[in-house]
Amino acid sequence: MQTTTGKIINQLRLDNRIEQLSCIGQIVETGVCRLALTPEDMEGIIQVRLWMEEAGLVTWLDPFGNLIGRLEGTDSSLPIVMIGSHIDSQPYGGRYDGAIGVLGALEAVQCLMEQGIRPRMPIEVIAFCDEEGSRFNKGLFGSRGITGQLEEGELERKDKNGVTRREALEAFGCAPEQFAEAIYPAGSIGSYLELHIEQGPVLESLAAPLGLVTGISGPLWLTVTMKGMAGHAGSVPMGMRHDALVGSAKVIAAFDDMVREEPEAPTVGTVGSLSVFPDSRNIIPEQVSFTVDLRDMEMERRNRLEGRLMNLLDDISSEYGLTYSLTEDTNSEPRYCAERIKNAIRSSAEEIGLPLPELMSGPFHDALALSYVCDYGMIFVRSKDGVSHHPSEYSSPEDIALGTEVLYRTIRQMCSPEIASNGTDM
Ligand SMILES: [Zn+2]
Repeated sequence: MQTTTGKIINQLRLDNRIEQLSCIGQIVETGVCRLALTPEDMEGIIQVRLWMEEAGLVTWLDPFGNLIGRLEGTDSSLPIVMIGSHIDSQPYGGRYDGAIGVLGALEAVQCLMEQGIRPRMPIEVIAFCDEEGSRFNKGLFGSRGITGQLEEGELERKDKNGVTRREALEAFGCAPEQFAEAIYPAGSIGSYLELHIEQGPVLESLAAPLGLVTGISGPLWLTVTMKGMAGHAGSVPMGMRHDALVGSAKVIAAFDDMVREEPEAPTVGTVGSLSVFPDSRNIIPEQVSFTVDLRDMEMERRNRLEGRLMNLLDDISSEYGLTYSLTEDTNSEPRYCAERIKNAIRSSAEEIGLPLPELMSGPFHDALALSYVCDYGMIFVRSKDGVSHHPSEYSSPEDIALGTEVLYRTIRQMCSPEIASNGTDM
């Protein structure tokens, strides 16, 4: 089955499956809308399950709505290697986000079986339920589910038609009362691997088809409120103003400059939402609230920037006669990929002569939830123009096949009996 390009995976089969899955819930020509726990989502699951069974995996839909296909290992007591992603999408989403991770995992495992390789540990291919969080406004549901990270009240969350998550799960044939039994016991998952589109422009700018993910950055989310004094736009002299919008604008611009200072660093900072009160063209703005999103792979640098943002707020508030307050909405730490898995991915790419630049993941993925219970690794596939969550999202079949090939070789390395016999744990 060796092709001229040195690839062992079956690119044609993979391409066809990606194409077929993209027809389920298709909107416009290249987009999909497969919201979690909808009939379209179920149609996708039925199709992927059929392919899993064709490949020879034992499949089930767990109580969280995750589709799982299992290949037994020679020693089923060993911790599982889990590989997957999601097949739900954004309402106006693309065909590659998540889908290539599930279908790539299936292709890699099917290829392993066709090559006559019997893994020592069990391998599970998984399509996680509701990664996107678009329907119930909270994502990573299935991956948080199996790792015991669901929060109080999640089943009562409603979609915009008033349907609760519980009702949607039950309509899907899932039984929330069985959640407890479906949580994987501590230590039962040994590694998690995920192939995903980059959803950003970095790999394209490096002319690299694939990238090795170093980790998922932890966002700090703040809401800042600056308060000044309202007044008539026509009567208050400039020297007597306490304009909350001018102060906020100064802070926002200076924050952006500050985040750009180390161009080599992966640090990103964004002010994405702003609200002005009273929001009238002839009143000096009295109060402005804006959000801050700050991400980095190094907590130390992120903390330093946060400290400098506080200084900026102090300085500019006193300069413009304002006061400010802030709330911290999210503060999560970066989650690093495991060295041993990164090494396995790196050497797999070397086998096919592919350079593998390293980059961080700004967005969340199911891997984030798994990172709290096992080692994990991620491979990114180049995205055209960095676009995602949109029908124009595109990754070429060649790039996806390369990613799947590296995934296949990584799994082969991690599960091969030779490695077991000399006792080295990859
Ligand atoms: Zn995704």
